[in-house]
Amino acid sequence: DFPVADQLQAASSHPALAPRAPGAMPSISVVAPAYNEQEVLGEFHRRVSEVMRSIGCDYEIVLVNDGSRDNTLALMHALRIADPHVTVVDLSRNFGKEIALSAGLDHTKGEVVIVLDSDLQDPPEFIPQMLDIWREGYDVVYGTRTVRDGESWFKKTTAKYFYRLIKQVSRVEIPKDTGDFRLMSRRAVQALSLLREEHRFMKGLFAWVGFPSKPFLYRRDPRAAGETKWNYWKLWNFAIEGITSFTVAPLKVSTYLGLFVAVLSMVYALFVIWKAMMYGDPVRGYPSLMAVILFLGGVQLISVGLLGEYVGRIFNEVKRRPLYLVNRLLGSELAGEYSND
Ligand code: UDP
Ligand code: MG
Repeated sequence: DFPVADQLQAASSHPALAPRAPGAMPSISVVAPAYNEQEVLGEFHRRVSEVMRSIGCDYEIVLVNDGSRDNTLALMHALRIADPHVTVVDLSRNFGKEIALSAGLDHTKGEVVIVLDSDLQDPPEFIPQMLDIWREGYDVVYGTRTVRDGESWFKKTTAKYFYRLIKQVSRVEIPKDTGDFRLMSRRAVQALSLLREEHRFMKGLFAWVGFPSKPFLYRRDPRAAGETKWNYWKLWNFAIEGITSFTVAPLKVSTYLGLFVAVLSMVYALFVIWKAMMYGDPVRGYPSLMAVILFLGGVQLISVGLLGEYVGRIFNEVKRRPLYLVNRLLGSELAGEYSND
C-alpha cells in the first residue's frame, strides 16, 4: 500500500513542479488601454515607472490608444520619446476596452504581463506582491477587490448579483469581484490570444484559459482623474454579453417555458371544449381571450428576441473580421526594437 501523503511528498519534490527561483527576474510588460485619459496618463506612467525601477528588471509599458478624442495619443508619443520603455499601439478607431486590451496583449514581449487600467484604479504598487505569487508557480495572479471606493451602491449590488448569476449558469468559474487587474505568464497570454472572438467578455475569457491561478486582495481606488466611460446601459449590455458568450442557458429557459405554457394551454383547451359541449357556446370570454393572446404573444416575442441575441452573435462571429486595426505602432526597446514606421 502507498498512502496519499507519501505520494504527495514524493511529487512535491519533483523538479517539474518546483516554484520559480526566489530571485528570478522575468522581463515584465505592463499593458494599459486608454480612451480619453489625458488627465491621468502622465501620472500613470510616473507611478508605473517608479514601481518598475524599484523592482529592477527589464520592462516595457504598452499603452494602447483606443481612438481617444483628446490629447491622449500626443501624450503617449511624448512619453515614448522621453522613455524607451514605452510602446504605443495606436488603434485605427475606438474599439472598446476589451478589444483595446487584447490589442495591447498582442504587442507585449515580456515573460510576465501585467494588465492595468490607465485611470490608476488598479494601483501599480501591487506589482511586486503579484510577482511574489507568480514565483510560487502560478500563471495567473488576479486582483480581487475588497472595497470599491467611488462607486455607487447600485453598481456594487448589481455587480455582485451578476457574478452570482454567471457562476450559476455557465461552466467556467469567473471569480467574483475580479476585474482585469492581473498578472499573466507568457503562456497564459498566448492561450488568451488564441481566443479571437468578436464578442469579448474578458472576465470569461480569462477564466476559460484556466492555468494555476491565485487571487490577491486589493483596494480598488477611485479614478485618479477624468470620467468613467461606463453607464448603466453599457453595464446591462456587458451583462448580456457575459451570459450569451458563455452559456446557452437562456435558450433552454425559453424551451422549458414554452413547454410549460403549451401544457397549460392544452389543459385549458380541454376545459373550454368540455364547457362548450356541456353548456353550449354563448360568445363570451373576451377578457380571457385577450389575456391569453397577449401573454402568448409576449412570451413568443421574448423567445424570438432571445434567439435573435444568439443569431446576431453568430452573424458577427462568422464574418471573421480582424479584431482591431493598428494605425501606428511604436515599439519599446524590450528585447530588441521593432516598429512599423
Ligand atoms: N477604455 C478603453 N476604451 C473604451 C473605454 C475605456 O480603452 O472604449 C479604458 C479606459 O481608458 C480605462 C479602462 O478602459 O483605462 C477602464 O475604463 P473606465 O475607467 O471608464 O471604466 P471603469 O473603471 O469605470 O469600470
Ligand atoms: Mg476606471
